[in-house]
Amino acid sequence: MLGATGSIGGSTLDVLARHKEQYRVVALTAHRNVNSMLELCAAFQPEYAVMALSEEAEKLEKGLQVHASETKVLAGVEGLEFVSSLEQTDYVVAGIVGAAGLLPALAAARSGKRILLANKEALVMSGRLFMDEVKKHNAELLPIDSEHNAIFQCMPAGFSEGLSTNGIRRILLTASGGPFRNTPLDALKTVTPAQACAHPNWSMGRKISVDSATMMNKGLEVIEACWLFDATPEQIEVVVHPQSVIHSMVEYLDGSVLAQLGSPDMRTPIAHALSWPERIDAGVQSLNLFDIATLDFEKPDFSRFPCLQLAFDAVKCGGTASTILNAANEVAVQAFLDEQLSFVGIAKVNQTVLEELSYHDASTLDIILSDDKIARELANDVIKSVSH
Ligand code: NAD
Ligand code: MG
Repeated sequence: MLGATGSIGGSTLDVLARHKEQYRVVALTAHRNVNSMLELCAAFQPEYAVMALSEEAEKLEKGLQVHASETKVLAGVEGLEFVSSLEQTDYVVAGIVGAAGLLPALAAARSGKRILLANKEALVMSGRLFMDEVKKHNAELLPIDSEHNAIFQCMPAGFSEGLSTNGIRRILLTASGGPFRNTPLDALKTVTPAQACAHPNWSMGRKISVDSATMMNKGLEVIEACWLFDATPEQIEVVVHPQSVIHSMVEYLDGSVLAQLGSPDMRTPIAHALSWPERIDAGVQSLNLFDIATLDFEKPDFSRFPCLQLAFDAVKCGGTASTILNAANEVAVQAFLDEQLSFVGIAKVNQTVLEELSYHDASTLDIILSDDKIARELANDVIKSVSH
């Protein structure tokens, strides 16, 4: 479980705890939260625990020694890659947030694992390369992002290569519209991180919550869907659906539209991808359609949510344009959370970086990581220049 202390980590471990006879946790990883990791190690007794930072790894090791734990502690990216490639592991849950998740997810692909992908940034950064590694090493890539998991569930069995060859006309990617769907445009200039992180339907980590508020999250998901389902951006329509009950839809050539519905609870897609092609209990309440009563649909407002447009632009450019946009966005969102940048500043930073940098063919990891770094540097410069 990569990113065990996060929101996806918590939902995944909740599902696993319901099926202890079926699944065993081999490794847990986290960034810096030693206390949470101590608790999780006590509950799941993994063979390995990895902290991204070595100072925290030492603290974790000392804490585990007190309890005579047999869990081995590793540190850094090497530790993350090591546990993603372990022979005794069948499944790797990619639940790290942001670009930090790319190398461990790639290691899992190269070791032929079933990858349960939440970490969309990894795929947005490295699309073609990631998909090629999955194919080459016979890995299985199952989406747990709720929309992509829904699309996967609505796809014909054995789906591969192209929508039209499978009788599919288009993908309808649903979006809640986030907390600022109806906020007066003028008020967006002064919204706070706490307001942006108060998502109406989902409880998630802070970065993806801000992405939902700017709808960059939906933009990243368009790019994610293009790679996962071999689709073009023209074949994907974003549909704002504020209730978050329909998690996405697939429209076939004959006019049939298949949808996957459920309560907004990440344990459903996680349990689906864990047990696929079978089904297990996820601890999720039945959907009460009488309580919901109404389902609404709206067109996305691209002027309110310029980040969504930027994502369509980046995917049309191809190459490292999405890598650059993702990197700029990670830096801009962090600056917003640190109160160094306004909410509307996020889109401005993203746009400037995307326009100013030239993108390249994303054929090697070196090119991808280099463009990621250049975009972060420029984003930081742009933020400094607007905040002074
Ligand atoms: P989160 O912030 O709650 O958790 C992130 C996890 O990653 C934590 O365990 C943290 O320790 C770890 N981490 C952070 N930085 C790291 C680093 N530099 N090195 C190693 N580990 C690091 O985030 P989340 O909401 O669980 O989201 C995780 C990923 O899943 C994101 O890519 C997000 O877009 C995606 N996702 C989340 C949800 C959701 O409901 N939370 C839904 C769909 C997709
Ligand atoms: Mg999603």
